[in-house]
Amino acid sequence: NHHQSGEIMRIAVVGSGYVGLVSGACLADFGHKVVCIDKTEAKIVDLQAGRMPIYEPGLEDLVCKNSATGQLAFSTELGPAVADADVVFIAVGTPSRRGDGHADLSYIYEAAREIAAAVRGFTVVSVKSTVPVGTGDEVERIIRSCNPAADVAVVSNPEFLREGAAIDDFKRPDRIVIGLPSDERSREVMAEVYRPLYLNQAPIMFTGRRTSELIKYAANAFLALKITFINEIADLCENVGANVQEVARGIGLDNRIGSKFLHAGPGYGGSCFPKDTLALVKTAQDSGAPLRLVETTVAVNDQRKRTMARRIVLACGGNVRAKTIAVLGLTFKPNTDDVRDAPSLSIIQALIDFGASVRVYDPEGMEQAKLMLGASVDYARGVYECAKGADALVIVTEWNQFRALDFERLSRCMSKQVVVDLRNIYRREEVCKHGFEYVNVGEGVAA
Ligand code: NAD
Repeated sequence: NHHQSGEIMRIAVVGSGYVGLVSGACLADFGHKVVCIDKTEAKIVDLQAGRMPIYEPGLEDLVCKNSATGQLAFSTELGPAVADADVVFIAVGTPSRRGDGHADLSYIYEAAREIAAAVRGFTVVSVKSTVPVGTGDEVERIIRSCNPAADVAVVSNPEFLREGAAIDDFKRPDRIVIGLPSDERSREVMAEVYRPLYLNQAPIMFTGRRTSELIKYAANAFLALKITFINEIADLCENVGANVQEVARGIGLDNRIGSKFLHAGPGYGGSCFPKDTLALVKTAQDSGAPLRLVETTVAVNDQRKRTMARRIVLACGGNVRAKTIAVLGLTFKPNTDDVRDAPSLSIIQALIDFGASVRVYDPEGMEQAKLMLGASVDYARGVYECAKGADALVIVTEWNQFRALDFERLSRCMSKQVVVDLRNIYRREEVCKHGFEYVNVGEGVAA
């Protein structure tokens, strides 16, 4: 296989979740020939019929367009697609291992064994999942021991896309990181895969495999630390009569700091930051170079979610027993249906522990939330149904449709006029003029 410039690559993507599906659809859109594989048959059946198993803006159009041209196909069977592929991406999940917080690599290793049995000819195996340092070595070892004749190069290619803006992030990334093994043939192949982005001037960084694996964790840990920093500053603001949004603006204008990821809120959540910070902490402890800043970030953030529940209880006069709390927003951020490790889940659990009845609404996350929350809460079909008769309304996720609430209407349908805005999407005057008590994050009152 000699790859000349502008060559179409045959690509197999193992795991068609948020990352695998978006990556596969975008790579097909670049002109490559892609098969996305998943062992969950229902997902593949849906995708073959043009139905998206997840909510991600723009995904349906991209998938349907590239399925129609034959650039993109879906299968439950890994064998044929892998045998045919120049590059196999591994994009399976790497959740926290129960008990100790290390990354659970069983899906990665299983995929490696399946790939080993199917590869034909020189094939680059590119690990896109977020995996601890050294996982590439282990994937390589597994493939070689399962199939000594396999001619593979295992590279690390972490993904930095954000849910809710995933397609744009994949097509216009800040950078592409590729960690190469000693086998240099893979450099050319990976350069070919990303050539369309290359032409768009996306910086592509080649480095060592272990370094690449660590870059992903270091990036997520730094972002988690930045959020946690501003959250603690928010608490301080409340105590000393300062305003965190102004502090964030004031420091963010310094280019060395930057204005992104300085929004105080209920603490970070989601399918990546919590598990990745924890896994990095474990890796670092095991290596004898503990990351105490990251350890503290994890602890501060965990505590914060319960603290937010207490804030809600205080807003209700110190007791929520037999009161109804309306919660708007369940997903860990807007424009996704993903509720994995969302702050809403801990906050809701704490409110239930305090004796409250909780009614919830989310524009896209209801189905996923039902799997996590079951019968412990009531589900509403809209904002005002959610708020009806409630003693407080809590905004946990800043969906656009929550940014222009009709407070007149809310005031009429709620039993107490209390709004707790954990994302600071409103101005105090705006809410208070309708007779509401308004509680937000990091807005201290000058003595
Ligand atoms: P996901 O749970 O949405 O998808 C994983 C998919 O892999 C599932 O559909 C599962 O059925 C499938 N799968 C597991 N084992 C398989 C096998 N042997 N063969 C075929 N399919 C298999 O996970 P995700 O959110 O897409 O995350 C995947 C990886 O990417 C994780 O390591 C995550 O940390 C990383 N990542 C995620 C994001 C994000 O925003 N979600 C961003 C960057 C990196």
